[in-house]
Amino acid sequence: MQPNDLLSQRPATPGRAHFDEAIAFAGVRCPAPIRGNLVHELNVGSDETLSPTYAGRSFSHDVPKYRLPAQGMSADAAYQLVHDELNLDGNPSLNLASFVTTWMEPQADRLAQETLAKNLIDQDEYPQTEAVHQRVVSMIGRLFHAPAHETPTGTATIGSSEAIMLAMLAHKRSWQRRRESAGLPADRPNMVMGADVHTCWEKFARYFEVEARVVPMEQGRYTIAAAQVEPLLDERTIAVAGLLGTTFTGQMDDLESINELLARTESERELHIPLHIDAASGGFIIPFAQPDLRWDFRLSQVRSINVSNHKFGLVYPGMGTVVFRDSSDLPQELVFHINYLGGDMPNYSLNFSRPSSSVVLQYFNFLRLGYQGYAEIVSNVLANAQALAAKLQDIEAIELINDASAFPIVVLRATEPQVTDLTELSHLLRERGWIVPAYTLPPNAQSVSVLRMVVKENFSRDMVDMLSHDLRGALQALRKQTAVHPHRPRHRPHC
Ligand SMILES: *Cc1c(COP(=O)(O)O)cnc(C)c1O
Repeated sequence: MQPNDLLSQRPATPGRAHFDEAIAFAGVRCPAPIRGNLVHELNVGSDETLSPTYAGRSFSHDVPKYRLPAQGMSADAAYQLVHDELNLDGNPSLNLASFVTTWMEPQADRLAQETLAKNLIDQDEYPQTEAVHQRVVSMIGRLFHAPAHETPTGTATIGSSEAIMLAMLAHKRSWQRRRESAGLPADRPNMVMGADVHTCWEKFARYFEVEARVVPMEQGRYTIAAAQVEPLLDERTIAVAGLLGTTFTGQMDDLESINELLARTESERELHIPLHIDAASGGFIIPFAQPDLRWDFRLSQVRSINVSNHKFGLVYPGMGTVVFRDSSDLPQELVFHINYLGGDMPNYSLNFSRPSSSVVLQYFNFLRLGYQGYAEIVSNVLANAQALAAKLQDIEAIELINDASAFPIVVLRATEPQVTDLTELSHLLRERGWIVPAYTLPPNAQSVSVLRMVVKENFSRDMVDMLSHDLRGALQALRKQTAVHPHRPRHRPHC
């Protein structure tokens, strides 16, 4: 088998069909596909060059695009070339697609620069960075009401995906140990979750061979509750996933009812099934906006929680956290003790090296903002998101699925037959610079097409006005287009 065969065997990327259709319609050939192609086919044949932009001044030779250049260039020339190429990216401040932080204060930028060279894994070399790591994880555990009479443990991760994999690996191993010690077979583990989960849950199931029992969605119900979970539980269930803020609609699973179900299952059927809370997006919203809402370790069956610090923890990408209620939830055989960097370094992670800067930046924000600072920011983003929702609500032909009452997320669907495919609307907004994704909801609500807007700290009230104005304009343009070209294919090229 040629090395490239492996890559070409990957499953078709979702969204790719639309892309090809778009190319055919426009009659143009796009450059390399830039969407949904995260496994990159290597380009080993092309002799294309990056055209020397500043020809005579900095470059005396062609710069190949896909081959290591034979000679280098000056740092200034390389900087300018890379910098200019990246100008083709979208503008992060207009990116309402992502939950991830796009702005921090200049002091944070300075700290990031100062800590870029430190590897978080080198605990013995950088003991103070490790002390900061411990403080950050403790602060998060306390924010989530980790019980002081147990021994909560946790670690920073590269994001919620790693945090979720680590939590579920621990639950899987604990389940296997419980089964073995009871003399029962420990094969065919399963986990229960809603179709509203982030892909990293399906990734865990597939990579680590756990059957995913998925509760389908329905038109009008985009979250899960005990009633849907109960029939799927059995003695092979390693854990149930509950969401504090779903990726698709930014709503919350009914965590209290699922907790009550699992408590009952434990007392009546003697099945210990941990509840894991995926608080990737909600973990830094709810503790400030609704401190009395019981979603965290205050619920008795919650054994682990993950959060993406690079979402509303307000730090740059590369930072998540997993916290376990008690050290007994994390089988010690999964924790590695490393001594070849000096000292004894306990480590629970999927990868080894990682930047320490994002942990340091989370510490910076905790000191800089305190509880009150976060509460104010959360209150502001909620107010801005609600203002956006209110403006959009007034637009004919739009129905809000999420009006930002709990999370700063606005999700809408169109109610007019001409505009049910929102991809076109998303493209029209992109022409104005806004990045607002359009997608369909998971099965069995896949007929519902939505637009999602995540309102972040740097999104001002003025931008609310501009975006709702542009959305109104885009809708009007779309109606005109459909009236003039009723049979025109709906997709336009992405390139
Ligand atoms: C973003 C998100 C994830 C994945 O988090 P990363 O930090 O990007 O790895 C998982 N679950 C939910 C609910 C999310 O919103």
